[in-house]
Amino acid sequence: IPVEPFDLIVFGGTGDLARRKILPALFRRYCAGQMGGSSRVIGAARSDLDEAGYRAFVSDAIAEFDPDATQNRDHLSAFLERVSYVILDARGDAGWDKLAALVQKDRVRAYYFSVGPGLFGDLAQRLHTYGMSDADSRIVVEKPFGRDLASARDLNRVLAQHFEERQIYRIDHYLGKETVQNLMAVRFGNMLFEPLWNSQYVDHIQITVAESVGVGGRGEYYDRAGAMRDMMQNHLMQLLCLIAMEPPAKFDPDAVRDEKLKVIRALDPVEPDCVVRGQYQADDGAPGYRDEVEAPDSTTESFVAIRAHISNWRWAGTPFYLRTGKRLKARASEIAVVFKDAPHSIFGVQAGRHRNILTIRLQPNEGIELGVTIKEPGPGGMRLIDVPLDMTFAEALGPDSADFPDAYERLIMDVIRGNQTLFMRGDEVEEAWSWTDPIIEGWEERGEAPIPYASGSAGPDDALMLMHRDGRRWREIR
Ligand code: NAD
Repeated sequence: IPVEPFDLIVFGGTGDLARRKILPALFRRYCAGQMGGSSRVIGAARSDLDEAGYRAFVSDAIAEFDPDATQNRDHLSAFLERVSYVILDARGDAGWDKLAALVQKDRVRAYYFSVGPGLFGDLAQRLHTYGMSDADSRIVVEKPFGRDLASARDLNRVLAQHFEERQIYRIDHYLGKETVQNLMAVRFGNMLFEPLWNSQYVDHIQITVAESVGVGGRGEYYDRAGAMRDMMQNHLMQLLCLIAMEPPAKFDPDAVRDEKLKVIRALDPVEPDCVVRGQYQADDGAPGYRDEVEAPDSTTESFVAIRAHISNWRWAGTPFYLRTGKRLKARASEIAVVFKDAPHSIFGVQAGRHRNILTIRLQPNEGIELGVTIKEPGPGGMRLIDVPLDMTFAEALGPDSADFPDAYERLIMDVIRGNQTLFMRGDEVEEAWSWTDPIIEGWEERGEAPIPYASGSAGPDDALMLMHRDGRRWREIR
């Protein structure tokens, strides 16, 4: 469905995120016919480029990061005609008059803040001073949204001076993933699951976001953040909210976000023995964390695992195990809802222990799988086995399903449409920091160092123990 004509202004338009995600996403939406009319993309950054130079930059980014770039080559020159560029300093006045003259006031304008959070206030202030913020304009801000509660509050306050909450789109690209939205469709569109979605039937829930890569080129940023701030406080907590929230009355931005907020508020404080933090070690050929960030004494964690409890009527007694880390065995993200054992096994002990597990896989092979226990085929008597009812989207829905928009495409189009459902509200972000801050402060107060773990492993052994001592185990990372 085409959206209204818009101007999308990318502050930081020559940065890494613009190159890898934002610009290729816009091109794909253009090819899909969604950037109709006279919609335009305006890059704004410090880099000394003219319009032709920026178009070449955009063209290179698309060639490198859009898998269908060659197939869509015919569209490329038409798309590039929609692209312009302004050299601009967020902290000074250079370039702002030119930008103000370029943006059109009679259409939706989205200002994408793809710069460090230290510049958010400057950008918001200057958009206001130069007359570019009115009711039809919106801003998109990237993570990290602060580094603790106090800084997130400051950012919210700064943005609120010039923009209303309905104009502020805080990106968490996990919320733009097809499977994450499907999680809501599965929960609230079927009669089958919701009656079982509580502590009476669910033994526990595991959320894993595992990366196989190390910190790479983002070492300087990462070493100041760590896994807790970079992944747990935002992506994993957002997934936790969606899996645990009460059904909203309707699929509308505030109804959904109100329910997510209630989940965060119901989280118990985390005791020190319910958190494990780790740091990856050097492995044949691959550098260890400290080498990679060039900080020999760094105590920043590249892995964190938590056992969390939600103290409300639905979830009291059902633990949520969350873990995320770098340089793990594989790049694999999933949510697993592990149901309780059937109350009595009529097939005897030899039938073994079987449990239903609903797995929502974010990567690789996005899809949803339900493990069901059946009889092993053949004459061997009543032996039970588990088989997956698999709904890998690409298989179940045909080859076209692989073409669904990626997270950035969907989220940018939602910004233009004015739909905030998949964006974090200011109070949600603050509440999430209120939960993670005491954990981080506890580490600092106790001078606790992360536990080393082997690259390519499943993280430190202590993380395995976190579940073993409860008589449970993590699902394999693969
Ligand atoms: P980057 O350093 O690659 O690019 C920064 C951009 O900001 C450049 O275009 C630069 O010209 C511009 N810029 C810097 N100072 C400026 C100033 N004073 N005035 C005008 N422009 C200025 O950064 P990035 O990796 O693209 O990250 C951008 C934002 O996105 C950051 O907030 C980052 O945390 C967030 N983010 C990045 C990634 C990623 O993978 N790169 C992922 C998630 C979030």
